[in-house]
Formats: sequence, C-alpha cells, structure tokens
Amino acid sequence: MHIVMASSEAIPFAKTGGLADVAGTLPVELCKLGHDCSVFLPAYQTAKQYAYERPEVQVDESVASLVVDLAGYPVHAWIHRVKLPNCPVNFYLVDQPMFYDRHGLYGDSHGTFGDNCARYCFFSRAVVEAIERLAIPIDIIHCHDWQTGLIPAYHRTQTNQHSWYRQSASVMTIHNMAYQGRFWGPDMVLTGLDHGLFQWEWMEYYGDLNLLKTGIAFADALTTVSPTYAREIQSHPQGCGLEGLLSSRSDRLFGIVNGIDDSVWNPQTDSNLAAHFNKNTWREGKAACKRSLQESLGLPIRADVPLIGIVGRLADQKGWDLIVQLMRWWIEHREVQWAILGNGEQRYADMLFQLAMQRPDRVSLQTTFSDPLAHRIEAAADIFLMPSLYEPCGLNQLYSLRYGAIPVVRSTGGLADTVCDATAEHIEQGIATGFAFEDYTPEALANATIRALEIYSHWPGIWSKIVETGMNQDWSWTKSAAAMLDVYERARQFARIDQRLRP
Ligand code: ADP
Repeated sequence: MHIVMASSEAIPFAKTGGLADVAGTLPVELCKLGHDCSVFLPAYQTAKQYAYERPEVQVDESVASLVVDLAGYPVHAWIHRVKLPNCPVNFYLVDQPMFYDRHGLYGDSHGTFGDNCARYCFFSRAVVEAIERLAIPIDIIHCHDWQTGLIPAYHRTQTNQHSWYRQSASVMTIHNMAYQGRFWGPDMVLTGLDHGLFQWEWMEYYGDLNLLKTGIAFADALTTVSPTYAREIQSHPQGCGLEGLLSSRSDRLFGIVNGIDDSVWNPQTDSNLAAHFNKNTWREGKAACKRSLQESLGLPIRADVPLIGIVGRLADQKGWDLIVQLMRWWIEHREVQWAILGNGEQRYADMLFQLAMQRPDRVSLQTTFSDPLAHRIEAAADIFLMPSLYEPCGLNQLYSLRYGAIPVVRSTGGLADTVCDATAEHIEQGIATGFAFEDYTPEALANATIRALEIYSHWPGIWSKIVETGMNQDWSWTKSAAAMLDVYERARQFARIDQRLRP
C-alpha cells in the first residue's frame, strides 16, 4: 500500500508530544511491513536545522514549488524532500518562512500564535497540491489532529480537482479531543472551501470554524489512540462537545494503542541506566539503578524503602491535585521516597516544591524536561503513579511495564487498556500488571497505592510475578502498525461503500 501521512510534528524533526512519536515511528514500521510511506510536515526552524546540520541526512531542496491562494493572497510553498540514513520513509518539509521560521511550533512565551489557522490551512492545502505535483502514488492519506483536519474535507469534496482524491481513502487520527483547532467563523475564507460547508454537520461549531470537527466529519475512517478512549469520546465530557458527531460515526471509529520505540525504551540496552536488566535479572538491575538514582537525587540510599516515581507534564490532566493531596497525607507518616520529574504549570510546581522542602529526605523534585532522568526514574522506581483525569493513550505506563516499575493508574483511556488491576482473581490468573482505581479522588488513589505497597512489602513472590508479567507485555509498534493496516483496508472499503472509490 502507498500511504501518505500529514502531521504537524514528527520525530526527529519537531516534537511537543506523543503525536511526534506516532508520526515519526509508525511510517517506519509500515515500511518494515512492506508498504511505502511518505510524511509531510511544516519546515519549522527545528526541522530545517535537523535536516541541514547533519551531513548524513540527504536534502533535495525544492522538489516542488507551488502557490496556495490564501483568501485571495498567493502564498508560495517550497517542498523539500529529506531522507534519513537507513530510513525508507520519504519526509517532505513544507517551507514558507513567514509561517514556520520562528521559535516554537504552535506558540511561544507570549502564548499561542495568532495566525495558527492560516498556518495550518496553508499547510493542509500545500500537502494536497504537493501530492499531485510530485505524482506521489497514494492509497491512503492519513491525517493527525486538528492541524490537518481540512485534508479529509478537500479529499471528499473537491474530487474534480485532483485525480488522486478518487484513488485513495482518508484516515483521521485523534490524539487528544481537548485540542480542536477552533477559530472564529470568518476564517472559513482561509480554507478555500465552499461556504455551504460552514454548517453544524461539517465544519461549524457554535459559530466558529472547527478543524478537528471537519476532519472527523469528512474522513473515511477515524482512529484514536486506545479502544477505551474511542468509547469515552462518544459521550460527555470526554467528547469535548463533539460526542454527538463521534457517536454518529462510531462504526468508523477504531482505537489503536500507540507503540513504544524498543530501540529507545529498552532496559537491556538503555544507555542512560546505571545497570541493564531483563525479566530474569530485574531484581539486581533495578536495585543498582535505584541506588544510583537515590545517590544522584540526594535521597537516602535505602534498598528497603519503596521508591515511587512520577514523570509527566504539570497539567490538570495528569492528576497532580490527587498526587499532592496523597503526599500531604503521607509525607510525615509513611516511609516512602518520591522521585518526581515534571514541568509545566507553576502552581503544581509550587505545591510540590513545598513538600520537597518539608522532607528533602523523602521527596526529590525536578521541574525540568530531562529525557535521561525520565529513563532513570522508570528503571529505579518500584511503583509508578499515573492518576490521570483522562488519558487518550499514555506512554509512561507502557515504559513502566517495560522497566518493572509497577504502575498505579486511574482506569481511564489507554491506562484502562494497558494495565490489568491486581485483583485476587487477576493475580491467580497470572494476568495482573499493576493497580487501577476508578474514582477521581485522592482516597481512591491512596487505596490503590496502599494495595501496591502491601504486596511490595509482604508478598514478594506475588510482586515479582506482577513485575514479570508486565515486562512480558508486547506494546511494540509492530503490533500497532498491523492494526493500523487493518484500518486502512476498512477505510478503503468505506470509501467504496460511499461510491467514491472504484471497486
Ligand atoms: P502526554 O503526551 O499527555 O504528555 P504521555 O504519557 O503519552 O503523556 O507521554 C509523555 C512523554 O513525555 C513520555 O515520553 C514522558 O516520559 C515524557 N515526559 C513528560 N514530561 C517529561 C519531563 N519533564 N522530562 C522528560 N520527559 C518527560
């Protein structure tokens, strides 16, 4: 199959979150399965720097140059083709310095960029033109999030303009319903689409233009990043206002859990770790990693004290209010150590900082973004907390399973799909991999964490079994890519049913 992806970020060129991992890694996996993949993304400063500053990266400049009519103004796009060493994927950077030559992807220290609607309307339209101009063979156009939500609309409604529209099906992946690309109605003119589409069934949302809604309404098939999140977004509040549209298209909506990159997150080869380990050697390996982390964070070097790790953005979504409350209850009374890494909202940093000041022998807080430290915490922690309010997929719990740090999670979205609660029955069946709770309350988090600590302290045989069951799980991209290929086939079937694709 020939697959073209359009994404506003992709590793190794530009990243703010999990979307970049998906858009950079999934195509590589699809190529390994014998398919042909191209990825389009904007030529941000970071993307151009990455491509131009490395001699091993091959850049074919301006393989196409085109003009997009943006509300009556002709705006040029230069398309550069980039080949990474030993990578079969063709990356295409859509260049327009006025839009992309700046610090930050979607905003900077002053807030989100005021011209984001124009930037991504332009990007989507340039991708559509470039596919035609470069005569890229295409069976599937796979779009990600609101930034590319217009592409399925062009694909469905402008079939007389480009022949590739009639030969392919479109797939839209939703990574987080909370970000919809909502702009004021008059921005409709930037899309170049018929104003008749500015109505509630398609592109309009309470008088605004909604680009994620547009993608959901027009794509032949939809995916999101876990089966539970796929169900949750069909009702309030997780649907964030689009639950009606999503449930009306539920037969076309599929949940596929993101994979983890085994070459980066593997305790047997991870160069960030003080010791390497696998499911047979994790006890010694983890003990060495714990010792080394305690030492470097200034925590007392104690093998017997349980170490709780937390890594994540300091944002409401991640359940920091529950964590802070739990820590306040426990800080003086329970002998546990906390290794916390998170950056984001200052109010959470302040609350955590107070706790770290109160008991520096029990709490280590780092409020930076540090990939090596994230790896070291996963390897050292006995328990990893993720009490998210909502979690479309979540990666940290997958890393925890891989690194033998038992996850304690709230049962929502991808957390519900990837962590099997250690009930007596699941332990008996040998399928327990962590501890899960339902209610979004500090009491429920405390109960689940106490259950974990009890087994950790008093039932080492059961603990080992849970660790090893977790380490045995396969959350690789190979599995996710195979599931995505099935969706591509379904999308082509749907397009045939809608009589857009020849049988
Ligand atoms: P989300 O995409 O909602 O932030 P995920 O769990 O899906 O949450 O992925 C978060 C990723 O970002 C993980 O790889 C995690 O290790 C990493 N991460 C988050 N905060 C930090 C930080 N402060 N330092 C290093 N890595 C971080």
